Amino acid sequence: EDPENCPSDPKYLEVLKQYFGYSKFRPMQWKIINSVLNDKRDSCVVMATGYGKSLCYQYPSVFTKRTTVVISPLISLMQDQVMGLKAANIEACFLGSAQENSTQVCHDLKRGKYRVLYITPEYASGAGVTHLKEIDKEVGLDLIAIDEAHCVSQWGHDFRSAYRSLGQLKQSFPQVPVLALTATATHEVRLDICRSLRLRNPSIICTGFDRPNLFLSVSLKSDTSSDLRSQMTKQGNQFNFDGPTIIYCPTKKATNEVAAIVKGMNIPSAPYHAGLSQADRNQAHRQFVNDQVQVIIATVAFGMGIDKPDVRKVIHYGAPKDIESYYQEVGRAGRDGMPSQCHVFYAEKDFLTSRHFINEMQNEKFREHKMKMLGKMQQYLKTSTCRRRLLLSHFENKKLDDLGGTTNCCDNCRRKLERSRQQSYYDSKNWSSVLPPGIGPEDGEQDFAKEAQDLFDAIQTLGSRFGLATVVLFLSGSHSQRVSRFTNLSGFGKGKYRKPNWWKGFGKALIYEGYLKEVAVKDSFGSTVELSRKGISWKGAGNSSLKMTPTSDMLAETRPP
Ligand code: ADP
Repeated sequence: EDPENCPSDPKYLEVLKQYFGYSKFRPMQWKIINSVLNDKRDSCVVMATGYGKSLCYQYPSVFTKRTTVVISPLISLMQDQVMGLKAANIEACFLGSAQENSTQVCHDLKRGKYRVLYITPEYASGAGVTHLKEIDKEVGLDLIAIDEAHCVSQWGHDFRSAYRSLGQLKQSFPQVPVLALTATATHEVRLDICRSLRLRNPSIICTGFDRPNLFLSVSLKSDTSSDLRSQMTKQGNQFNFDGPTIIYCPTKKATNEVAAIVKGMNIPSAPYHAGLSQADRNQAHRQFVNDQVQVIIATVAFGMGIDKPDVRKVIHYGAPKDIESYYQEVGRAGRDGMPSQCHVFYAEKDFLTSRHFINEMQNEKFREHKMKMLGKMQQYLKTSTCRRRLLLSHFENKKLDDLGGTTNCCDNCRRKLERSRQQSYYDSKNWSSVLPPGIGPEDGEQDFAKEAQDLFDAIQTLGSRFGLATVVLFLSGSHSQRVSRFTNLSGFGKGKYRKPNWWKGFGKALIYEGYLKEVAVKDSFGSTVELSRKGISWKGAGNSSLKMTPTSDMLAETRPP
């Protein structure tokens, strides 16, 4: 076997079997553990959910019989892990500022009783350092592991300010290797993690992001109960989700509304959000983990606390905040590797609120970054091509075409497959002239050079001072008062050959593709649209071709009903 993935000395596997019950390490696990135990090197590990991060930081001190410190953002998660370790006869404890019995725990820590000590980032960057120094002196620290390390970065999601101070640990414990772990990190976030945590010559270990067991799909919101029912199966008179399900909602209010509807369907369920007491949240979590409730309805802010390997469905009722949060949230599904589904219901107006928040941000670079992340999310929701590839392309430094197999991994691929099946059936009957609705050349990649020219001309004729809606009124030759003073300009009504909503969809697609950019208008919901550098150079080159796959917005206007 590959020595990178498998230890040559059998004693490592004996410990693995004895304490963790596994007969071998998963790919990458040994590489990481080896780098901690034998090279004592700092590492930044990016590992897709479900690959087995916990083992990487729990194993070393079990092997050496010293102590590992794990910094993790959520107390409930740490408590679960402590329980799990204790059940496997591995001594573990949690220490936070408000911890009862902490005197005894601290005493035992210094005696070397515990293999794994969990602490919060706040504790680690404050009062905890003195304790850690004592433990290090008496027992020796093996490893400082920082879980959910993307919280260190403002460029990621889930930013948590206490994480930023964790860099001090490297100064206090220069000889102890630091292991930073996360399931999502783009290049920017990765750099930020290494820099902020002051990792020294870190090895960067990345498993890839694909989660082949997740099926991805999207639809527009309509009526909440029928939306939810469309994700369930009916047995007798009772609707049911097909297994443990998380429904994410954007706000507390929405969470309560959806929770009431699910409850009304007689499905054992529980809400989970910041407005509930800690005791209620703990109870909801327990009931979900123990299969006493089938559905948990949670705000995204608290979703991180839900830890269950056999979640079969993750539903977003409302557009996710951005593409990176979305990846993290669907990561909660199917950690056991079994097929699981991830569905988003969204409405166009969901984006307004996000956009409003972004417009309020002071730092311009940061505002632009967030706007881009939101654009990516919109692109994901509206694409008519493979959603998995789109999601992966955000994280992997590869071209779309190199991102692997795509049959039947999302609604779009499934639809395409279904269409080609129907198409060949119709062909075989020589019925091609009577193709059923939804089959046609309109789905594939097409050249929209003429449309792009007309749209860019219209934007520039209007001096790049308006939002997309006004530009579309102009192109469509509308009687609206908003464009009445422009009726004499050249190009007015030039876009009548396409429907206004098609133009809107097209304009947005050009924003996602980077030909156009939206500029926020300060202190308002609005934004103006102008040509980006890419758009200007396309136009300047007198380019005669602009190929892209139409988005769902554009298709809605061309596809027969
Ligand atoms: P992550 O934190 O990366 O999402 P976990 O640490 O929760 O993943 O592990 C995911 C699942 O994989 C768990 O159910 C765990 O028991 C299992 N697992 C981890 N390592 C191994 C291994 N070497 N062999 C078999 N199963 C493993």
